[in-house]
Amino acid sequence: MTTSLKRQFTGVIYHEMTHIRQLNGKGQAPGGLIQGIADFVRLQADLAPPSFWARLGQGDRPDECYNVMAWFLDYYNSLRYGFVAELNKRIREEYNSGFFVKLLGKTVDQLWSDCKAQNETGHYKL
Ligand SMILES: [Zn+2]
Repeated sequence: MTTSLKRQFTGVIYHEMTHIRQLNGKGQAPGGLIQGIADFVRLQADLAPPSFWARLGQGDRPDECYNVMAWFLDYYNSLRYGFVAELNKRIREEYNSGFFVKLLGKTVDQLWSDCKAQNETGHYKL
């Protein structure tokens, strides 16, 4: 197995292992968020394959695809360390989009707009 293939395989395992420990608000949490958290873990482990993953601020909505959500979560986790862990804890029993307001002070739409604008100004580059 090549190094690149091992790395991608390991990234997939990180993603899937996250699902084992993850709850989904008793089915209420959006699938894009659940998948995005799993890819956030992969991103945090530095196992995101750069060739096909989106970058921060790409896409039209944070839940457009798994890795767009992962970058969105990573951005806000960088501003408030532990945010994703706290969000994950809160969706154990239920899901409420108000969790974003409680944790970050803004709605998901506002956060997405801020994230897009921040990326365009180049203040958050990886
Ligand atoms: Zn998944």
